[in-house]
Amino acid sequence: MPDFVELEKALIEVIGKKYVSSELCDRLVYSKDYSIEGIADDYTPDIIVKPGTSEEVERVVKLANKMNVPIYTWGGGTSMSGNPLAVEHGIVLDMKRLNQVLNVDAENLTITAQAGATIETVFNAALDHGVFFAHHPESSLSSTVGGALSCMGISIYSAKYGYAYDQVLALEVILASGQRIRIGGKSYLSLPTHNLLNLFLGAEGTLGIITEATLKVYPKPPMRARVSFGFPDITTAIEACKSAHAAGCWPETVFLFDRRSLVQYMERAKTPIPDEVSMAILFGASGCTEMVETTLEVISKCSEEQGGRKLPTNVTESWWNSINIGKDTFDQSNFALSHTEYEPDLVDACVPLSKFQEYSDFCDDLKKEFGWVDIDFGAFIVAGPRGPIPFCIYFSVPIDTRIQGEVDKWFQFKKRMYERALAMGGSLSDANGLGLRSSPWVQEQLGSAWELLTSLKTMMDPKNILNRGNRGFSSK
Ligand SMILES: Cc1cc2nc3c(=O)[nH]c(=O)nc-3n(C[C@H](O)[C@H](O)[C@H](O)COP(=O)(O)OP(=O)(O)OC[C@H]3O[C@@H](n4cnc5c(N)ncnc54)[C@H](O)[C@@H]3O)c2cc1C
Repeated sequence: MPDFVELEKALIEVIGKKYVSSELCDRLVYSKDYSIEGIADDYTPDIIVKPGTSEEVERVVKLANKMNVPIYTWGGGTSMSGNPLAVEHGIVLDMKRLNQVLNVDAENLTITAQAGATIETVFNAALDHGVFFAHHPESSLSSTVGGALSCMGISIYSAKYGYAYDQVLALEVILASGQRIRIGGKSYLSLPTHNLLNLFLGAEGTLGIITEATLKVYPKPPMRARVSFGFPDITTAIEACKSAHAAGCWPETVFLFDRRSLVQYMERAKTPIPDEVSMAILFGASGCTEMVETTLEVISKCSEEQGGRKLPTNVTESWWNSINIGKDTFDQSNFALSHTEYEPDLVDACVPLSKFQEYSDFCDDLKKEFGWVDIDFGAFIVAGPRGPIPFCIYFSVPIDTRIQGEVDKWFQFKKRMYERALAMGGSLSDANGLGLRSSPWVQEQLGSAWELLTSLKTMMDPKNILNRGNRGFSSK
């Protein structure tokens, strides 16, 4: 058992009294993220530390290493999978003071930011310089660069530009030993050998702490426009996506929502959805006027050939506003459901394209079995980063977390859903991070490669201080 009084004293010496706290009220703030996993156990950290520079991160990590105290890196805390939670207590390292955009190089199409900068800050800094940063999740106002790169963050523009980690050119990382390294550079091909960046992208803070990132930005497209279509079912909607891909369309936004998700997202805007719509797709395109118009025209033709019916413009625009969350549209976001007594949670998985309908039907049957029948929460599917081809399906369920039985049911439900996805030849989706939510199945999916991953973790973090006990790694 580490001596926390000594640890706190030493941390104060490193970064000053103002930025170290062991007060219960401060610690409780970090005891839960946006996941239901967060309420299933006590994840209250012992000490909160808020470094202001990379050097301070380095010194905190060296201290944690010396005293063998686990350290949990925390960005915006918007994770829906429990991945920043202090499973073994210890130190929470809040990165939000490292929040500067250091450089926007519009000529060379790069932006360099500290890891605690919010995505919205980076997005707006790029726009201020006439370029476009393509990662824009619904949580962009609070989630940070480090958090987005550590999960496999997806965005409303992912169909064209890819995941958050596809934007990375270079990283500054503090290793578990406290050593600071830089990988990559400003040129678009800065890796002479193995892609070591990938060790830290999507690693959920288990292999190193990202302190700075150089990211790609793009010339700002002169125009964006959107269209949405209603379909009879998932299969016809997916066929429309496939034929749009075959026709050479490269839209930037492709979201497929079932009726219940659409109703949920439109709730605040109170936009009526035509009765016959059971599945719908929102397509967004960007570029010059001619390109955008042609893309949306061809997409419309492909959709109509599959029985799709164009949805009214007010549906399309409300839908877009409900996912394109910034300061101006925040009140249209319905996702956080802060106005209800329920907490929504997600199961997300990737299944082979031909199995999306079967998986969705399985989910509906399971909801019935669990007694969750009259709920306007359904499925939504995300496409990218391979153009308009769907890859990942989410099911949301609102849980009354005041009732322990409902929470227990949620864990059973989730188990059945992940087991079914794997049995169908699918995969856990990493799009929101695995954290505590889906890591119990990661070992099964990786098979013998799990040993390689744990050996790598042991080699890079021999005392297992980084996010100890999270993401399926050992708690010792
Ligand atoms: C309302 C809502 C909408 C959302 N919409 C989206 C969406 O559209 N797309 C999407 O991808 N996600 C979405 N999410 C999920 C979440 O916002 C993302 O996973 C986000 O990237 C997490 O970033 P964060 O800064 O909040 O990280 P945190 O939640 O603080 O941490 C997440 C993980 O990253 C690690 N980490 C954080 N910073 C660092 C660092 N500097 N170095 C190393 N590891 C680090 C943590 O240890 C943890 O494992 C949404 C969540 C909510 C609540």
